[in-house]
Amino acid sequence: MRTEKFGGNGPRVPVIGQGTWYLDRGDRKAAVTALCRGIDLGMTHIDTAEMYGDAELVIADAIEGQRDDLFLVSKVLPSNASRRGTVTACERSLKRLKTDRLDCYLLHWRGSYPLQETVAAFDELVASGKIRAWGVSNFDADDLDEMREVAGEGRIACNQVLYHLRERAIEHAVIPWCEAHGTAVVAYSPFGHDDFPSPDSRAGQVLQTIADAHKASARQVALGFLTRAPSVFAIPKASRAEHAADNARAGQLRLSESEIATLDKAFPRGPKPRGLPML
Ligand code: NAP
Repeated sequence: MRTEKFGGNGPRVPVIGQGTWYLDRGDRKAAVTALCRGIDLGMTHIDTAEMYGDAELVIADAIEGQRDDLFLVSKVLPSNASRRGTVTACERSLKRLKTDRLDCYLLHWRGSYPLQETVAAFDELVASGKIRAWGVSNFDADDLDEMREVAGEGRIACNQVLYHLRERAIEHAVIPWCEAHGTAVVAYSPFGHDDFPSPDSRAGQVLQTIADAHKASARQVALGFLTRAPSVFAIPKASRAEHAADNARAGQLRLSESEIATLDKAFPRGPKPRGLPML
């Protein structure tokens, strides 16, 4: 599994991690098995959120006895992101995850509480050892500018944003901003949530041809494309162990410049949209 530095001052983190949205909806035992298989194969970055129902409880079962090997991330809902609410939400997540600390804690998206309040709470959580670092999610470049004004340069560990083959809006301004300011980019819904290019489509065929050349799967090639820059990490969600194993293998895949150019043409970036797309 390839690892990269998570932002300017962060630790090395596997480029492919594991998402957990809706992981609590199906067979819990299978979900725990999938997470454990992913961890065994190096996908030790685990992403969750207080919003994801009981996903934190599923994770708690999966990570028992191996907490120190993980990079564990959760998120506070904007409606809880006040000075006190952020601290309380974090403590709730820690309890549900059965751990004493998070490696990174994110503001899920911008809400109505002033950023100053949320940052003050994040600082308190860092000081008390409950979180190692903090970041944001669904922030466009102008939001990142504002957050940098509030918190100072080099403080935002990551920005978790929507990024998949058919949604490349973040390439216009968000990735360049993050690379300039030492902020890791975390690609969420890297398979389009549940809308992966069909092998029957023209672009899907291009993807499959490249996959065949590497004896890889189309999903591995998609993850390889998304994480082609060292600043970008991806967190696919898999509730089946064979899917987790498939995704982990993307951590070894290296696409050539010409394959990247071919994919770039098959799944064009498109013009910069007015607002940042999000799920
Ligand atoms: P996703 O990872 O793009 O896609 C998940 C779907 O792909 C599931 O149906 C899964 O099936 C399937 N899948 C996974 N690996 C596969 C493989 N190797 N072969 C075939 N199918 C495979 O969707 P997502 O859950 O929306 O995004 C990933 C994570 O990003 C979330 O879980 C969450 O942690 C995070 N996220 C964050 C935000 C935010 O606002 N910050 C928003 C959305 C998502 P199975 O489950 O059956 O294995």
